[in-house]
Amino acid sequence: MRLIFSYMNKFEALGLGEAIIKAVSDMGFETPSEVQEKAIPILLNEDTDIVALAQTGTGKTAAFGFPLIEKIDSRSRITQGLILSPTRELCLQITNELKNYSKHVPGLHTVAIYGGASITDQAKQIKRGAQIVVATPGRMQDMINRKMVDISNIGYCILDEADEMLNMGFYEDINAILSHTPKEKNTWLFSATMPKEVSTIAKRFMHNPIEITVGHKNTGSKNVSHEYYVVNSRDRYAALKRLADANPDIFSVIFCRTKRDTQKVAENLIEDGYNAAALHGDLSQNQRDLVMKSFRNRQIQMLVATDVAARGIDVDDVTHVINYQLPDEIETYTHRSGRTGRAGKSGVSMVIVSKSEVRKIKSVERIIKKSFEKKVIPSGEEICQVQLFHLASDIGKAEINHEIDSYLPSINEVLEEFSKEELIKKFFSVEFSRFHNYYKKSRDLNAVNDRDRGSSNDGSTRYFINVGEKDGFDWMTLKDFLKDVLELGSDSLSRVDVKESFSFFNTSTEYQERVLSTFEDFRMEGRKVNVEISKDSGRRGGRRRRDDGGGFKGKRRSDGFKPKGKKRFGSNDDRSNQRRDRRKRSDRR
Ligand code: ADP
Ligand code: MG
Repeated sequence: MRLIFSYMNKFEALGLGEAIIKAVSDMGFETPSEVQEKAIPILLNEDTDIVALAQTGTGKTAAFGFPLIEKIDSRSRITQGLILSPTRELCLQITNELKNYSKHVPGLHTVAIYGGASITDQAKQIKRGAQIVVATPGRMQDMINRKMVDISNIGYCILDEADEMLNMGFYEDINAILSHTPKEKNTWLFSATMPKEVSTIAKRFMHNPIEITVGHKNTGSKNVSHEYYVVNSRDRYAALKRLADANPDIFSVIFCRTKRDTQKVAENLIEDGYNAAALHGDLSQNQRDLVMKSFRNRQIQMLVATDVAARGIDVDDVTHVINYQLPDEIETYTHRSGRTGRAGKSGVSMVIVSKSEVRKIKSVERIIKKSFEKKVIPSGEEICQVQLFHLASDIGKAEINHEIDSYLPSINEVLEEFSKEELIKKFFSVEFSRFHNYYKKSRDLNAVNDRDRGSSNDGSTRYFINVGEKDGFDWMTLKDFLKDVLELGSDSLSRVDVKESFSFFNTSTEYQERVLSTFEDFRMEGRKVNVEISKDSGRRGGRRRRDDGGGFKGKRRSDGFKPKGKKRFGSNDDRSNQRRDRRKRSDRR
């Protein structure tokens, strides 16, 4: 009981009323985020303009949504608040959030206005009375011109994701829309970054705005770690697959530079058996909605997108952002990496670069004020281990389906002669052979950079250790732990890679004995810690072998198995439609 009161109080302390407090507890929010803590009291207590800078995923919607709902007179049907947002996606999301926030406020109506849907339907909804309108600039302009919406009495205008709106060239629209609003309203501007254009808007349309900043301006979320991988350009796609295979639970947005690359990479992934889909401007609105819906439902694990199409993708729990190519505009990197590490979770932003692009990483580091870690594309052996352990942990977690009970007697009969150990070996061999056959011919994809490769090439040993993220380690803490236990200096330990339930690391081969004997009988909190030499030990840059064509996921299909994981996006029909669309497009070319 005390607990409930104590966290309710944190929101109450900001000055929010009963209806919102109730919604807050319905939604399970426990503590206000920093931007909420800073903005809400100001917006509730003062009639002021505000510029609030906070990274994506920091809870800006509630930071303006809560005070806006408090200030609206829900007994009047006049439109009192206007929220402009860059994309249809975001527009719908904000509307949804606001409806949740205000569900205990009777009579309060929020309506979304965006392109690509019936304008008359939207006009009807407005006519029924909408105190809050959430709109994309283009459709808003349209509706103002057709006198379908009246914003001449609004008290509050919110510019959400202002930097994105300006990026997308909405300056003129915003200008025109604001000219239809009263002078004495308050303008609240929310943005992740503060480029010149945003300050121009602030100067031009706002009066002495209070400025609040959360974290550093222009930096990405602190929950995101940044990694890069150097490969030869022709190995980009194979590298992408390895990164996906090495992270079996991946839920990612993959960024390409052009629509064509986006489509191509997505098609290849689908062909290779991954749950992937493309999101770009050549798709119809309908197709895009479908893709986003499947992504939200986790039916798609890898969403391949252009920067424009991915604007406003606001899906929590994205584990990885993969930059298949770096963006042309380095600033864009912040937006890309902001798609992960949302809502307090951690995320990884990976960049695949060719040798000639490595120097660009430095420019990105300057902008995000964080450093990148140089990583190596995992070897086939490593991936086999990852997949196998993933399978083992999946099996451990699986719920028993009693539908199989009636078949068990005959299954037992078939397998009766085998011991538990043999059965486990056999079971895993079925799976393992699939990965192994695929990856045994794989080669090292890391572009050989003679200088820094040398050291890890000769005289280094790679180990497997059975502790990982679930034991609370990340690569830094594991490295510290190993340094302590093995009494080694930082330089003697490298390539520490932490997976969910196990990890890999390297030491110079001279320490091999020390490592193995230290862990011969080592316990951590009662559990035996096991260290083995990983099979791919230090072996890299070997003989050139066949390219990573196809994929083991794809192979499985031809064996007559369904690809594993969630339902694949799109039925066969969808896929043949996609194929047809593809043909149409190439016909036009
Ligand atoms: P932003 O607009 O800054 O990118 P959002 O407003 O979309 O961020 O919020 C990101 C996610 O965090 C949403 O899922 C939202 O419901 C959730 N969220 C917002 N505020 C809180 C809070 N105080 N506690 C827990 N979750 C929150
Ligand atoms: Mg937002």
